[in-house]
Formats: sequence, C-alpha cells, structure tokens
Amino acid sequence: MKIAPEELLRQHNLSLTAVRLALLEALHANPHSDAARIFDVVHNKIAAASKQAIYNNLNTLVECGIVREIKPKGQASLYETRTGDNHHHIVCRSCAGVFDTDCHDCAPCLTPKDSHGFVIDEAEVIFWGVCPSCQNNHNSKGKNNAEC
Ligand SMILES: [Zn+2]
Ligand SMILES: [Zn+2]
Repeated sequence: MKIAPEELLRQHNLSLTAVRLALLEALHANPHSDAARIFDVVHNKIAAASKQAIYNNLNTLVECGIVREIKPKGQASLYETRTGDNHHHIVCRSCAGVFDTDCHDCAPCLTPKDSHGFVIDEAEVIFWGVCPSCQNNHNSKGKNNAEC
C-alpha cells in the first residue's frame, strides 16, 4: 500500500477499528483473496471478530473504494488493496490462480469505440488462459494417461 492503512481510513472518514486495520493488512499480504480466506486471516488475529463484522467491514471498504472487488465468472469475489490504477487480471482456467497485469498502455482500455457520452474512469478486463504451471502439469499428465 502506498498509504498507511490508518491514513487511508482517516481520508475516507472511517473510524480506525482493529477489524478494519486487520482487514487491510490481510488483503495487503494476500491480494486476490476471497472473503472466506480473508475471514480466516483476520479471525486468527482477532478471535473476537464475528464473521458478520468482518464481512460488513469488508463491504464498507469496497464501497469507499479502499478495497477493489473483482468477480471472475464462476468464482467467489476476490479482493485487493491495489486500487485506482486500472490494472487488469489474468485468471487461470485450470487452477483459478489470479495475476495482476498492467495495461500495455492504459489509454486504449479507457477509450471504447462508442462511449455513449460517458466520462469513463475504469475498464474491467479479465484475461483468461492457462498458467505456466498448469501447462506443465497438463503436458506431463497427457503423456501418461488419457485423462485429458
Ligand atoms: Zn493454473
Ligand atoms: Zn489485482
């Protein structure tokens, strides 16, 4: 994170709570985690925090734009603290691994052929494919059995 979690919360007029700080730390350490994984990390740190409290706070952070939510189709929503840079994601069809990728040049992504008069500030692009380690698995498996 470019800005300290305390400062981020202050900028958005959110009160500093242990759960919110733990959420931001958990997301920073585990980008592209789903809510269940984030709950585990935060709950390990703050045993008293309920699932409801953790999920509610996560939603608040998303609504304020401190946390970005991405929704690859067929998967639970994933969360990350890298916001505001219009970066894109590459998702593996095989293991569901998610990687960040910067645009080659961000301008074209924000310039659709027809903007319908909108002032556009974000483009959400998900690239789908097969990651290198799944490619290797597939190749070595394919030689030994006909599973694929
Ligand atoms: Zn993979
Ligand atoms: Zn990302």
